[in-house]
Amino acid sequence: MLQKCGDSYILPFIADKYERFFETLDSILRYEFEGVVYSSVVVPVAIDFGDAYSWVGLRESYEVLPLEHYTMVAKSRQLQYWNQNSKYCGSCGREMSFHTEISKVCEGCGKEIWPVLQPAIIVLVTKNKGEEVLLVQSRNFRGDYYGLVAGYVETGETLEECVYREVLEETGCSVKNIRYIESQSWPHPNTLMIGFHAEYSEGELRLQDSELKRGGWFPKSKLPEIPKRVSLARRLIDRWILGEI
Ligand SMILES: [Zn+2]
Repeated sequence: MLQKCGDSYILPFIADKYERFFETLDSILRYEFEGVVYSSVVVPVAIDFGDAYSWVGLRESYEVLPLEHYTMVAKSRQLQYWNQNSKYCGSCGREMSFHTEISKVCEGCGKEIWPVLQPAIIVLVTKNKGEEVLLVQSRNFRGDYYGLVAGYVETGETLEECVYREVLEETGCSVKNIRYIESQSWPHPNTLMIGFHAEYSEGELRLQDSELKRGGWFPKSKLPEIPKRVSLARRLIDRWILGEI
């Protein structure tokens, strides 16, 4: 939930009359930022707190919040997800309790756990000396836009092996000169996106039907609709357009 502030939004300051209500809620995580202590709680239903407040989805909040506030919200969301999914010990089934702000310990066997991240690669593949980029439309995408090849890292795999495998599996093309560019925390729900550039090596474009709807090679002058500003895919594409990649 966000608080309206002119034409944009900030994290909400809740009036005193709601304080008792929030104190009754479970899973409170606290953050101090610029001298203000923020609490993160899971509210059971979307309660109406009045015109000054709005319920805004996590993805949409990126567009309307100051970046520092969004970063805090995104981290809170990941920790809440972890908290909700680690109530019981995976070894002995007893309850887990917080040991530190980012770790829990089992009351039965003493097993200690920390928030889990899922590493995933995303790769900007270019060919013809960087003149064309490989864009694909995943069956998972909500809109009608094109993105980059991406996928989760498998057990026992290096990041570079994952890049090579994902591009080959999804497009039938092999790549070379795989190079790390930048990363992004992706709190949907707990992914670390690791962005790469790779050059096309060989193979005919043959899309994996189960994963992709469409795909192809595009020059800068004829790009289709691309992802929104929030995503690492968009940052990589923008950097390629600017000639940085
Ligand atoms: Zn245990």
